[in-house]
Amino acid sequence: MKFAIVGAGFTGAVIARELAEKGYEVDVFESREHIAGNCYTERCNETSVLIHKYGPHIFHTDNVEVWEYINKFCNFMPYINRVKSTYDGGVYSLPINLHTINQFFGKTLSPNEAIEFIASLSASDIREPKNFEEQAYKFIGKDLYKAFFHGYTLKQWGMEPSNLPASILKRLPVRFNYNDNYFNHKYQGIPENGYTEVVAKIIDHENISVKLKTVFERKQKYEYTHTFYSGPIDSWFNNEHGVLGYRTLDFEQEIHDCDYQGCAVMNYADTDVPYTRITEHKHFSPWESHDKTVIFKEYSRSCEIDDIPYYPIRLVEEKEMLNRYIDAAEKEKGVSFVGRLGTYRYIDMDVTIGEALNAAKVTLSSIENELKIPVFFIDNVR
Ligand SMILES: Cc1cc2nc3c(=O)[nH]c(=O)nc-3n(C[C@H](O)[C@H](O)[C@H](O)COP(=O)(O)OP(=O)(O)OC[C@H]3O[C@@H](n4cnc5c(N)ncnc54)[C@H](O)[C@@H]3O)c2cc1C
Repeated sequence: MKFAIVGAGFTGAVIARELAEKGYEVDVFESREHIAGNCYTERCNETSVLIHKYGPHIFHTDNVEVWEYINKFCNFMPYINRVKSTYDGGVYSLPINLHTINQFFGKTLSPNEAIEFIASLSASDIREPKNFEEQAYKFIGKDLYKAFFHGYTLKQWGMEPSNLPASILKRLPVRFNYNDNYFNHKYQGIPENGYTEVVAKIIDHENISVKLKTVFERKQKYEYTHTFYSGPIDSWFNNEHGVLGYRTLDFEQEIHDCDYQGCAVMNYADTDVPYTRITEHKHFSPWESHDKTVIFKEYSRSCEIDDIPYYPIRLVEEKEMLNRYIDAAEKEKGVSFVGRLGTYRYIDMDVTIGEALNAAKVTLSSIENELKIPVFFIDNVR
């Protein structure tokens, strides 16, 4: 039995490793010139700062199995993501917390006072919010929405938040204390030497052969017992039902002699600033010391056919198109669709790794029990 894995991101690497460990031969195909997919990190030649080439990646999870798995392949350094936002000449702390509220409104509220205050701002007349904007009005009122959500969301998604579904903002996006840790997860960190080394260690196995700069063609599946495809589901079918919508990112890199902004991530919420945020990469490795600094100005725009797809849009039109691709995938023989592109979802690294471990487990048990290997390994693909 021989398996093909398309894509050398976390999805492909983890499935390859799990199958290789059981003695199966695995060929991994990667169209880019490097492994690690969008989690790829590399050292900047000029500054030796570790760069997160496709945008900043912070590992955060509550999943013990995933945390223990990934820790076998690297040394995690403690890292807490503390994001700031510039708006209308001020710098504020995110996610919106007591510090943000007190600073923004020039107050010294206690937690209970802030709860009452935010409740007094929220739009009580909106019972069933029809879109993202109304949902935000209902939760936090117009001023905080305008400062921290309107401009940023408009730039990020290229459309007015009133055209986005209310479901994007599921819970009250406010903390009534001074906790500015962006994530709530128990385990958080960044690998000491970046993510590329982690993925390299995962695929470093005698049964795995990696072919870089090699696009896997659909007809190649006949050379293998089974193929795991972590590329875009629409590309597999030559976009025959149309191209699924994504947002892509452009990064404008600058090198400076000093500390540029004093933090890793600074959002820009004003609509007259064209970029969504500036990331300063040396602050993602605070255990290192560098004289020079590298920053990325991040711009979001609609993804064209030759761009790298980043965030799936998943509005109504895309969901209808996705359903047509899922129907086609379910008829496709010898292929499983996996990972963020294969299932057209935004998924964090921990979810990606958890799903890949599960895909490998289900595959091995299917082989053992002479059952068909599933096309999808998740329930909520539609
Ligand atoms: C800007 C940004 C920031 C993020 N930040 C975080 C974060 O802070 N924390 C977090 O947990 N997650 C973060 N993520 C999510 C993280 O990037 C994903 O979870 C992860 O990349 C998914 O891995 P994957 O292997 O499924 O996909 P990918 O990493 O995209 O790998 C798929 C690979 O398949 C290759 N490929 C596609 N088609 C073919 C083909 N036909 N032949 C050969 N190769 C092919 C591609 O080149 C690619 O390398 C972020 C994502 C983005 C966009």
